[in-house]
Amino acid sequence: MAVDTLETVRAADRAPEAERAGTERICEQCGAPFQGRRDKRFCCDPCRTRFGRERKERAVQATIDQLAQMAGVDATEMLKRNS
Ligand SMILES: [Zn+2]
Repeated sequence: MAVDTLETVRAADRAPEAERAGTERICEQCGAPFQGRRDKRFCCDPCRTRFGRERKERAVQATIDQLAQMAGVDATEMLKRNS
């Protein structure tokens, strides 16, 4: 729609230079430099997905370790025995 396009162009004109052109960023997952807006943290979708998954795994592991510590057992040894 013509009106929508016009509004988008106007918004871009008002946006600060960094927002419009993108800045040099470093991917938080693989460390690769890429061009992106300030709020972008990853160079590509696979990196974003992978970062989220690994963060979840780290959180789970931390919880297991914490519970094991409370129970006074070594979680790593316990998992070895069960497998
Ligand atoms: Zn990446």
